[in-house]
Formats: sequence, C-alpha cells, structure tokens
Amino acid sequence: MKKQIAILGSTGSIGTQALEVISEHSDMFEVYCLTANSRVKELADQARRFMPAAVVIADENRYEELKGLLSDLPDIKVYAGKKALDEIVEAYPIDMVLTAMVGFAGLSPTIHAIKAHKIICLANKETLVVAGELICRLASENDAPIIPVDSEHSAIFQSLIGEGDNPIEKILLTASGGPFRNYTMEQLATVTKADALRHPTWHMGAKITIDSASMMNKGFEVIEAKWLFGIGADKIQVLIHPQSILHSAVQFCDGSVKGQLGVPDMRIPIQLAFTYPDRLHLNGERLDLLKHPLEFFEPDLEKFRCLALAFEAIRKGGNMPCIVNAANEIVNRGFLEDRCGFLQMGEIIEKTMNRVAFSSVSDYDTYIATDAEARRVAEELLKQGK
Ligand code: NDP
Ligand code: MG
Repeated sequence: MKKQIAILGSTGSIGTQALEVISEHSDMFEVYCLTANSRVKELADQARRFMPAAVVIADENRYEELKGLLSDLPDIKVYAGKKALDEIVEAYPIDMVLTAMVGFAGLSPTIHAIKAHKIICLANKETLVVAGELICRLASENDAPIIPVDSEHSAIFQSLIGEGDNPIEKILLTASGGPFRNYTMEQLATVTKADALRHPTWHMGAKITIDSASMMNKGFEVIEAKWLFGIGADKIQVLIHPQSILHSAVQFCDGSVKGQLGVPDMRIPIQLAFTYPDRLHLNGERLDLLKHPLEFFEPDLEKFRCLALAFEAIRKGGNMPCIVNAANEIVNRGFLEDRCGFLQMGEIIEKTMNRVAFSSVSDYDTYIATDAEARRVAEELLKQGK
C-alpha cells in the first residue's frame, strides 16, 4: 500500500521539494491532497502532474479560477477556504500530513490533523512557537507522532535515535548567521530587503529568509526544540556555523556529542520524515569534509535583537511566544513591503510584547485572541513608524 500524503503549502519551497521526493519514490508515496494560498496556476499544474484526490486553495476568491483550470479532470475535487483546509486533513485515507504552509495559518489545520491521528511531518514551525504546549498535549492524547522537517530539528531527532531516556546535557542548535553575520549596527540600519533575501546557504520562501536574516528564525527554532524534545531553553545553545554542514547536535551526560552532518539540502529531512525509520537513496551532492572547514561562533544578541526577544518570550512563557510570532509576521511583511527598516522589526516586536496583555492560559481561544490583538498593536506601531 502506498503511503497517502497531504501537502499543505505545496507551491512553496518545502512543498515543491517534497513533491520532488515523492516523484523519486512514486512506488511508495502518493499525493492525496495539495493546497496553496493564492497561486492557483502553480497548484493546478501540480495537480495535473500528481493527480491528487483533492486540492484546496485557501483564498476563496480563487476558487472559480482553480475549478476552471482543472475542469477537464473531474476526479480531482476542488475546495476553497480555511474550513476546507481543516476538513481535508481529516480525510480517512491520509497517512501523513506535511505542514509546509507559512505562518499562523498552519495552526488550525495542524490541530485538525493531530485530532484525526495523522502522522505530522512538521515544517510549519510557527505552530509550535504559537501553541507548543497545546500541540504537544494534543499530539500525545491522540497518538499523533510529530516528525520534524526543519533541518536542525531533524538533526536533533536523528541524534536521539536509539538513545531512549539517556539524559541530555544540552542541545547544540546551529545557525548559518544569515547574510548579515558580520555587519555592524550602522550597516544593519540601512540594509534592504534585497540584501536580506540573499541567504548564503539555503534557498527558502521569503518569510523565513527574512526571519533568518534577523535571526528570529533561530529564536523560533529554540522554541520549536523546547517543545519537540521537552528540553529547557537554558539547555539549548545557539551556535553560529556559517557553513550549514553540522545541522545540529546533542550532548549527552557522558560528554558525547552526536550530530547530523550533510550538505544543506532540505530534501534530506523531508524524505526522512516520510520514510522514518528507514532511509532511502537520495540523488544529490555528497558532503566532502575536505572542502568544508567547519567553524563555530557565538551569536551576538545585541546586534540580533530578535533572537534575544525570542529567549525572553520563552522565559515568560504563556502567550508571549504567540505575541512575538504575530508581531513578527506583521513586521516581516512590513519589511518586505518597504514599510519599515531592518532594525525597526525588533523594536516593534519588543513594544508589542510590552503592550499586549499577558496570559498564562494555553488554550486555542487564547492564542486566537492574542494573535489578533498582537497583530493590531504591531500594525499600529508600524503605521506610526515606531
Ligand atoms: P513559502 O513561502 O515558499 O511557501 C509557503 C506555502 O504556504 C505556499 O504554498 C503558500 O501558498 C502557502 N500559504 C501561504 N500563506 C498561507 C495561508 N494563509 N493559508 C494557507 N496556505 C498558505 O514557504 P517555505 O516553504 O519556505 O516555508 C514553509 C514553512 O516551512 C514555514 O513555516 C517555514 O518556517 C518552514 N521551513 C521552511 C524551510 C525552507 O527551507 N524553506 C526550512 C525549515 C522550515 P501560495 O504559493 O499560494 O502563496
Ligand atoms: Mg531551520
């Protein structure tokens, strides 16, 4: 029986690489459903190629267009809207759901997939940033395994295979440092979105590329690691590793350090999430350690304020990471639309953290209300040019 996979966000960077993996192993995997936000043409092309049972476009205004593009393929069901995303992941034949959409929008369908006992291949880290406690509780109650796709978390996951309950001393979470690793504060004040979109080692969607430049991405990954591996943030050390070869590592109680290395290629963790516990052949470049000296540096928390704010959010707990995520989504878009400068992103996030009411309740309604309020506050600050 072929494994049936739902890909949420199939038109994005992770989504398209996941489809490459699936087409390499079409004897093992079948696409049950593909989804996108608004890019109907790309979604229709993918549907034509992979013949899923269903496609969903989140933007309801694009429904007719998508339906028209697939009118000669009546076997593919076409749906639109957020509710349709929540419902499709529950479909009985689906074995695995790859959450590869970007942002807070991933939260609701991920919850529905967990409640339907699906295996979650988790790329959408924002879900764990916003609602880590709730997601982990639901995953355990519903026996829904969460397999990380994020390269660092996949590396940690791989380092933990076979370790049972062996005590962990710390997690070494690596970061490329992004394009501005060696910039001064003066230089950071004037960088443009074009500069920020030029990531040195990874080709990713625009939102995560900006988050990588500001290092908010690494802050989010600390939160993601905390929930996935049940480890305190004080035991997670962020290391700048410009080559992106050691994807992260675990230090155990005897001083042993186990890590996972490889060339930066997201198809590796995507494929492993689909095939775990097995490994399958993957065409691609192989690591040549003679060509890649490995370097490690400490991150600069003053220059990369967003990373420090993420640590602060973890310390406060409750809805604070949700506030940071919402404010970050606003300033990230603001920066991409030239509505704010690079350093202003951290300033607005910090002010939003101070203004939105703190809550220690970890339920869905609290996250929804917090997200809306933090977006409103951050948007207001952005308009005021703060
Ligand atoms: P992209 O921007 O390349 O793709 C995002 C996908 O999500 C697209 O299919 C997009 O549709 C869809 N989408 C966007 N907004 C919504 C919405 N509101 N509702 C439903 N679908 C939506 O992102 P990436 O592939 O780079 O990243 C996806 C996720 O994976 C993020 O959470 C990111 O942090 C994480 N991740 C990514 C990595 C990477 O290498 N790219 C590495 C590790 C984690 P459309 O095309 O129509 O806009
Ligand atoms: Mg990562």
